[in-house]
Amino acid sequence: MSSQLDRPRPKIVIVGAGFGGLQCARRLANKPVDVVLIDRNNYHLFTPLLYQVASSLLNPSEIAIPVRSVVNQAPNVRFRLATVNGVDFSSQHVQIIDGADIHYDYVVLALGCATNYFDLDPERHGLSGVKDLPEALALRNQVLERFEVALTEQDDEQQRQHMSFVIVGGGPTGVEYAGALAELFRRVLVHDFPDLDLTRARVVLIEGRDRLLIDFPSPLGDYARSRLERLGVEVRLKTLVKGYENRLVSLDNGETLPADTLIWAAGVKPTRLSQELTLPRAVAGRIEVDAYLRVAGQERVYAIGDMAAMQDASGVLPMMAPPAMQAGRHVADNILSDIRDQPMQPFRYRDKGIMATIGRNAGVARIGRLKFRGFPGWVAWLLVHLYFLIGFRNRLAVLFQWGWNYFYYDRPIRIITRTEK
Ligand SMILES: Cc1cc2nc3c(=O)[nH]c(=O)nc-3n(C[C@H](O)[C@H](O)[C@H](O)COP(=O)(O)OP(=O)(O)OC[C@H]3O[C@@H](n4cnc5c(N)ncnc54)[C@H](O)[C@@H]3O)c2cc1C
Repeated sequence: MSSQLDRPRPKIVIVGAGFGGLQCARRLANKPVDVVLIDRNNYHLFTPLLYQVASSLLNPSEIAIPVRSVVNQAPNVRFRLATVNGVDFSSQHVQIIDGADIHYDYVVLALGCATNYFDLDPERHGLSGVKDLPEALALRNQVLERFEVALTEQDDEQQRQHMSFVIVGGGPTGVEYAGALAELFRRVLVHDFPDLDLTRARVVLIEGRDRLLIDFPSPLGDYARSRLERLGVEVRLKTLVKGYENRLVSLDNGETLPADTLIWAAGVKPTRLSQELTLPRAVAGRIEVDAYLRVAGQERVYAIGDMAAMQDASGVLPMMAPPAMQAGRHVADNILSDIRDQPMQPFRYRDKGIMATIGRNAGVARIGRLKFRGFPGWVAWLLVHLYFLIGFRNRLAVLFQWGWNYFYYDRPIRIITRTEK
C-alpha cells in the first residue's frame, strides 16, 4: 500500500485570480501541493471601487494589484498570464490560447461573470460598461470628453445632450456611480468649466423594479433614492430601456432621453468560456455545484464565485465578493482534506452583510441584523472597503485620495488618456 509520502504532489489548477481564485491560491500557499493560478489579466481587481476610477477619484493601480506580487512568496504557487479557452475534463487538461495544455489533478473554476446587455449590442449601440479596468478608464475618458465637447457646442439642446448621462441598473454599482458623477459635476467640474452651466448636466438612473438596491432592506433602498435625488440625480423606477439609437435612449413608456452616454450597470450572464463548458447548469446559467462546491457529476472539478450556483439554506448565494472569497478558502480546505483521505466539509456561507455609498457622508449598510444609513453607513463602507483592499500600499494610497477629495472637494485624476495618436 502506498503512503501519502510516496505519491507525487497533486497539481491544482485555479482558473481566475479574482476574489474566489485568489483566496483559494493563498490558502494553498506553502501546502504540499503544486498550484498553477491562471488569469487573462496579470492583476487582481478590487471591483467595489471600480466606479471611483470611472469618476476620476482613484488611479487604476490603487484598486488593482499584480497577482505575482500576491503569490510570489509561496514556493508552490505559480502564476500564468493566459486566457483559458476550454477544459478537457476526461483527460484533465486546461486548454489555453497560444499555449500548451496544462494537466491538473484538481481544477477550480473561478471565472466570474460577464455583463448582460440583453438585446443591445454594446459596440453597435455605443454603450459604456463598468465591469473591468479598461471599461472604467474608457468611461472616465468619455465623461470628461463630453464636457470638452459641450464647451464648443453652440446649440443649447445639443449641449445638454453632451452633458447627459443615463445609467441603467439601480443596484449598488448604478447607485454608487450616479452619486459619484453628480458630485463630480457639481463640486469639481463646475470650477473647471466656468463657461458651461453645469446645472444643466443631467444624470438619470433607470431601474426596472419598483425600488433601488433590491438586495437591501427596503428602507435603505428608499433612503438611497432620496439621497440621490438631493444630489440632483433623476431616478426612474419601474422603467426599462428598450433601445439606444442616434444618442437617444428609448424607454418602455414611450419616452426618449437624449444622452451622449449610456452606462450599462444592469444584469450579468456567464462568461463565454463558462457557457461553452459542458457542465450542468442551475439558475441563470450558473454551474450546478454540490454542498462541497464540486461540479455536479465531476470528481475533482470545483466551481466557485459568480459562475457557480452556490447555495445555503436561503437559496442561491448572491454574486458578491464575500461568497466568492469564502468559497475559495473552503474549496482549498476541501481539496487538502480529499488529498489526505479525510472527509470534505459542506460549504456554509457566513453572511456579514451588504453596503453601498451614495456620495459623501451617505451610505447604506446591513451588517447582520443591524441597518445603518447616512453618515454611520458611509463610515462603515469606508472602513470595510479599506480593510478588504489587498496591499498596504493600496490602502494607504486610497486613504490619501479619499482624504484629499473629502477636504478639498477635488478629483485629482481627471485626465483624458487616449491610446490613438
Ligand atoms: C463594478 C462592480 C462593482 C462591484 N461591487 C461589489 C461590492 O461593492 N461588493 C461585493 O461584494 N461585490 C461587488 N461586485 C461583485 C464582485 O466583484 C463579484 O461578485 C466577485 O468579483 C466574484 O468573484 P469571482 O472570483 O467569482 O469572479 P471575479 O472576481 O470576477 O474573477 C474572475 C477572474 O477570472 C478571470 N477570467 C475570466 N475568464 C477567463 C479566461 N477565459 N481565462 C483566464 N482568466 C479568466 C478574470 O480576468 C477575473 O480575474 C462588484 C462587481 C462589479 C463589476
